Amino acid sequence: MSMKRIMESLGTVNSKYQMFHAMTEDTDPGDAKFLFSAKDNLTSKDMETCAGSRILEGYFPAFDATAIARMREAGGKLIGKTNMDEFGFGTFSTNSGLEIPRNPYDLERACGGSSGGSACAAAVFEDHVSLGVSTGGSICCPASFCGVYGIAPTYGRVSRYGLIDYGNSLDKIGVMSSKAGDLRKYMGMIAGRDEKDPTSCVQPEMRNDHRKIGSIAVPREGTEGLSKDVAKAFADALDELRRMGIDVEEVDMPSLKYAMPAYYVLATSEASTNLARYVGMRYGRPQGDLSLKFDDYFSSIRSEYFGDEAKRRILLGTFTRMVGYRDRYYSKARKVRQVVIDDYKRVLEDHDAVLAPTMPFTAPRFDEISGMSALDSYKADYLTVPANIAGTPHMNVPCGYDGNGMPIGMQFVADHWNEDLLFTMAEEWEKDFEMRRPEVVA
Ligand code: GLN
Repeated sequence: MSMKRIMESLGTVNSKYQMFHAMTEDTDPGDAKFLFSAKDNLTSKDMETCAGSRILEGYFPAFDATAIARMREAGGKLIGKTNMDEFGFGTFSTNSGLEIPRNPYDLERACGGSSGGSACAAAVFEDHVSLGVSTGGSICCPASFCGVYGIAPTYGRVSRYGLIDYGNSLDKIGVMSSKAGDLRKYMGMIAGRDEKDPTSCVQPEMRNDHRKIGSIAVPREGTEGLSKDVAKAFADALDELRRMGIDVEEVDMPSLKYAMPAYYVLATSEASTNLARYVGMRYGRPQGDLSLKFDDYFSSIRSEYFGDEAKRRILLGTFTRMVGYRDRYYSKARKVRQVVIDDYKRVLEDHDAVLAPTMPFTAPRFDEISGMSALDSYKADYLTVPANIAGTPHMNVPCGYDGNGMPIGMQFVADHWNEDLLFTMAEEWEKDFEMRRPEVVA
């Protein structure tokens, strides 16, 4: 489909899938080289940025996030800001104060989260690239549920300037697309040093050696608790990788079991401090009764405009950092984080990548999600969280479909700064994998 056709159909397509919270009003692609969308927690000039939260409604940032600015400089046209869980807090994009994206393979099912709208856009539009953000799996999970490729690079590879932070020590901006080759192409565009984000400044060059993965470690802990369809698709994928000449070896990574609880302590600790700035005064429109005393005013705004999950995480994260509890929770979680990093380093000394399914099941229906507790949903992240706390680059690759035709994905993890290996893996895999594009109904 031509760029012009895509632009003209944006409104109709979006009313079906709800991938965008905000869309460009200018439907003329002009001399754009490519179209892209970005998760709504990346600030964008002239387009509302809400990060899935009602507390930010009416916020029109005065500047572009570095990742968006670099895409525009390379000739990209930003067509929309994608729907997500509020501030990234979720696994299905249903914890949103705004619109909830629908899975392109079945509108009654979720897209995954928290970059659900980005995965949806990448699956629905031809030749489309979408920027996602991962804190604990928010690129790979939705990429897996929507059957697209998605990469979260090494922590620090892409500048976080202009990102509405969830957990500053965890957040990574990455790329999602239905074409494997787009990962290399667009990561090359957004990556690299940026004075505005000091953590991006110390990094080795991103290599383009097209080096192939020779050996893969499959942790036993990563193949427990899978649905039947996921287990079968993953076993078939391992056979295929062996046929491709790759050594596949089962290993033990005992620390993986502790990554999920440690992650939720670290992520909520950081989130609870990040959310302190939203009080209805600095961003978005003033929404309340300004004659109230300031603390009453702040409380009234926060009570009304934060969703339940944001409130839960403020409580949890404040508790885990409190004097008297800090050693037991926050400090301990930091130690677990180091143990997870050490475990990856140990295994990646002998192997090029670690591989497991991305999610233990395929995209659930919305009625199934409403029956899940917060803890059920946290538990679903046990496969994506470890690489995120380790800051290692990781990538979802579609590897099959379940009995309902819903996509299944697997996640490759490489050592820090080794994105090149992942790009090449995706490019090789794509040659033989029969991807089923969703039937798009506009
Ligand atoms: N599901 C995880 C969470 O809720 C990860 C989300 C993310 O990466 N933003 O924290």
